[in-house]
Amino acid sequence: MIVGIDAGGTLIKVAYTNKGEIHFEKHPIAEIEQVADWVNGLGDSEVCVTGGRSGVLVSLLNQPAQEMVEFEATHLGVQVLLKEMGRLEDAYLVTNVGTGTSIHCIQDNVHERLGGTGVGGGTLIGLSHLLTGVTRYDEIVSLARQGSRERIDLKVKHIYEGKEPPISGELTASNFGQNLFAISKDLTKEELLATVIGLVGETVSTVSVQAARQCRSSTIVYIGSSFIDNPLLKEVVTSYTILRGSVPVFLNNGEFSGAMGAMSSL
Ligand code: ADP
Repeated sequence: MIVGIDAGGTLIKVAYTNKGEIHFEKHPIAEIEQVADWVNGLGDSEVCVTGGRSGVLVSLLNQPAQEMVEFEATHLGVQVLLKEMGRLEDAYLVTNVGTGTSIHCIQDNVHERLGGTGVGGGTLIGLSHLLTGVTRYDEIVSLARQGSRERIDLKVKHIYEGKEPPISGELTASNFGQNLFAISKDLTKEELLATVIGLVGETVSTVSVQAARQCRSSTIVYIGSSFIDNPLLKEVVTSYTILRGSVPVFLNNGEFSGAMGAMSSL
């Protein structure tokens, strides 16, 4: 068996081939020992590990494993997954919305990290929990889908009341920027969670679009587990990216890019 593992800050992503078929699995980082036990029980196999927690995982393995720099693994995995979707691009950006967010430019097979933001999937969970008490990721994203940001976010058109704004009135002037003191008690969990996702989505797409100026392409490939079962985040990122003049692409199984790259390197 050939196994690629991306051990990140929050989740461990695994890609492996069995009888020619590719399988994907993910586990919370707290299960790192179980993942190591699974690898140790595989017998004859080749393993490549990447991600911030790869050192911890390798120390738990009984057999030698290759280690790969995370950005290289991600880059290779994105190439493979893009090809599977029938997309052959020679220049694009990759925005990885993991626990945090990092942004890369890939041009003619050379990749460069352009920057990132600490606003990412960790913010989504952390801020959501602090505001609403909800703990589980799946509950956060499903409640958020039912909420509206209307009463919480301040839009440009709210500031330019009765006047033509110089930029689109639909743009957010200030996330959580409405006068909330009077209504803070009757805001619902759904509204608060939708607004947290709005904040994360608008921040990562704004930073990505700005980074695109340093790259030949304006195609932004969004990956990372923060998009799993999270159509609201996809929607916010899609509309903001398009509004700001870039082209968003979501990879099928994009959250497994690092694991896929590690596996493909073997
Ligand atoms: P990392 O490599 O840093 O672990 P990921 O790309 O795996 O990053 O993304 C982690 C983010 O994915 C979390 O911060 C959270 O927003 C989201 N996420 C998706 N599914 C889950 C889950 N089952 N449990 C926790 N977080 C999840």
